[in-house]
Amino acid sequence: MKNFTYYQPASVKDAVGLLGDKWGPVELLAGGTDLLDLQKEYIAQPDKVVSLTGIKGFSEIGGYTKKDPPAESGFTLGAGMKLSDIAENAYLKKLYPALTTAAGMDGGPQIRNMGTLGGSLCQRNRCWYFRDEHVHCLLKGGDKCYALDGENQYHAIFSQGHKCVIVNPSTLAPALIALGASAQVLGPKGERTVSLAKFFQAPTSATEREHVLAPNEIVTLVSIPDKGLKNASYEVRHKQSYDWPLAQAAVAFKLEGGKVKDARIVLGHVAPTPVIATEAAKALEGKEVTDDVATAVGKEAVKDAKPLSQNGYKVRLAQVAVKRAILIAAGKPKYWEL
Ligand SMILES: Cc1cc2nc3c(=O)[nH]c(=O)nc-3n(C[C@H](O)[C@H](O)[C@H](O)COP(=O)(O)OP(=O)(O)OC[C@H]3O[C@@H](n4cnc5c(N)ncnc54)[C@H](O)[C@@H]3O)c2cc1C
Ligand code: SF4
Repeated sequence: MKNFTYYQPASVKDAVGLLGDKWGPVELLAGGTDLLDLQKEYIAQPDKVVSLTGIKGFSEIGGYTKKDPPAESGFTLGAGMKLSDIAENAYLKKLYPALTTAAGMDGGPQIRNMGTLGGSLCQRNRCWYFRDEHVHCLLKGGDKCYALDGENQYHAIFSQGHKCVIVNPSTLAPALIALGASAQVLGPKGERTVSLAKFFQAPTSATEREHVLAPNEIVTLVSIPDKGLKNASYEVRHKQSYDWPLAQAAVAFKLEGGKVKDARIVLGHVAPTPVIATEAAKALEGKEVTDDVATAVGKEAVKDAKPLSQNGYKVRLAQVAVKRAILIAAGKPKYWEL
């Protein structure tokens, strides 16, 4: 690991002051579960590491503290909240099972006890070419994507138009997008709110990250409205833990008179950004949730997939993830959920 200077500011404002206007020379440290790996692998070689661990209130949850049961306005989750605290919070479990299921399946216990909400949203992609210090692909200043014609079994299946075919690695992201969440961000010019539906981007060079933050901006908290949505997240995984999903679907909708309203379906781990499946959500609206409806909506959600040479199998996995997430959210889980 390259030597660096370590800073532990006491406020987010002080932390912002330590950041620069380019990606690379300075890195933020939250739980360190991704950053330390990147440093040890010489993918990240910062001169300065700015720790967020000394900031008071950065890990706090707001929304139910003054009112029990929770306020209708929803929750605010501090960006420093540990994934395990999100997964185990009783109120969050009741209102946002899509989020707590996703947080509860992230990595393994050690990762969840250290990893944070902000770190989950801002973690770097897991492309094996990217993670190899000897490979200089597009995202590391090179001129080529090695996955396009290479080993791409875990890469994007919604790949058309993308020069880099990573999948966004965050399992919390699809759930939060389905729930209509937004991130509060602090930078040198002050605060701004970014809807999580617009938080991610498909990077194409070393000067871009997987999200739209500037190098000197920090996520301070995530707000989730309480819209009384039925919601769920379903992941298809190779291994039960210490791995990322092969495909994930998060869904949220209202059930009025037994019919679906205001549906949102978001696919994870299938494209450089979470995929908001608008047509599939429309196909679900106005319907009663049955096995046949959920199957048809799953097919609709993947109809534009363009898999690469080795990942055609992921299309079916994503389709099934949508079907199962819909059935779970509607309270109709099958044998696979019992
Ligand atoms: C074996 C293993 C399995 C995993 N499985 C999954 C999985 O299934 N699903 C999943 O989603 N993830 C998975 N992960 C990734 C894990 O969730 C992330 O490593 C973790 O969430 C990162 O959080 P952190 O606080 O440790 O971030 P750090 O490592 O401290 O930081 C990660 C990145 O985020 C940036 N960052 C951190 N906080 C902020 C902030 N507040 N504002 C702006 N930038 C910030 C940092 O600068 C850095 O670039 C897995 C990791 C491992 C090692
Ligand atoms: S998918 Fe992206 S990160 Fe992976 S080799 Fe291609 S350009 Fe690099």
